[in-house]
Amino acid sequence: MAGRIVEVGKSLHARGWAPATSGNFSARLADGSIAITVSGAHKGKLEADDIMRLDPNGSPLEDKKPSAEAALHVQIYKAHPKARAILHVHSVPGVALSRVIKGDELVLEGYEMLKVFPGITTHETRLSLPLVDNSQDMDDITSALSSRLKDVPAYIIRNHGFYVWAESMSQAENLVEGLDHLLQCEIETRRISQ
Ligand SMILES: [Zn+2]
Repeated sequence: MAGRIVEVGKSLHARGWAPATSGNFSARLADGSIAITVSGAHKGKLEADDIMRLDPNGSPLEDKKPSAEAALHVQIYKAHPKARAILHVHSVPGVALSRVIKGDELVLEGYEMLKVFPGITTHETRLSLPLVDNSQDMDDITSALSSRLKDVPAYIIRNHGFYVWAESMSQAENLVEGLDHLLQCEIETRRISQ
């Protein structure tokens, strides 16, 4: 799995979604442990050694320092027992849009691309994604999300980026690409509507 995370990380970096050391990626393994990127690794230069394992509660199983946001991965895996992969990126449209939306949700409605999300089969859908304030204290973010994670496939952290999760790494990659597209569409729509 380390090889797959390395491959995905390089691909997301190449698309501009994880510049420098930003972003973090993980997979839940068959034994319930979590393979995750270490803290501070450049996502365009990832190597297998930059991936480490955590137990299901986030305690390191190796003598390495996990991503600062590992607690957010643990929270998502607990809320979504079927999730096997989590990707966190600093997508520019995600960051930009989060700066102009005042509330605590980002609503996406009527887009064909909404069908990228599992269970959505028609554009005639209204998807509300949690939008929470950024913090360097992961407890602030996990408590803001605690009651809001169950029925959503993604969330956005203001001024920061977004998280998606899925039952496979390939599907999670699709969600990053699809959500980035949706957020770009929202920005373009607002721009030409002014
Ligand atoms: Zn981040």
